[in-house]
Amino acid sequence: MPEAPVAQKVRKFRGQVFVDWDRCKGCGFCIEFCPPKVLAFSDNFNDHGYHPPYLAKEDACTGCDLCGLYCPDFAIFGVRVAMPIESTIVNQQSPISNRKS
Ligand code: SF4
Ligand code: SF4
Repeated sequence: MPEAPVAQKVRKFRGQVFVDWDRCKGCGFCIEFCPPKVLAFSDNFNDHGYHPPYLAKEDACTGCDLCGLYCPDFAIFGVRVAMPIESTIVNQQSPISNRKS
């Protein structure tokens, strides 16, 4: 008996971060504790002379908001942005279906 088609789902959301540039004190907690390590210090200074973070690897952010949880100054947060759901149906031919009954 042939196997049922397998649906391969692509990612349903992407992550995005928002940085309140002038609240940041450049401690780097968000960069250190981001699980996929997608944040980096900007080369630019804010009004207080710190280097706020930016999203260096846009495609790899999951929107988990751990950066927001660790930030002591409420200067960053992450969100998940929904993406159109695309799924591909892959028909898998079962080796059993080729047997003679
Ligand atoms: S939302 Fe999560 S993955 Fe994205 S930058 Fe923040 S900690 Fe990293
Ligand atoms: S944790 Fe907050 S204050 Fe520290 S570098 Fe990140 S955004 Fe700036």
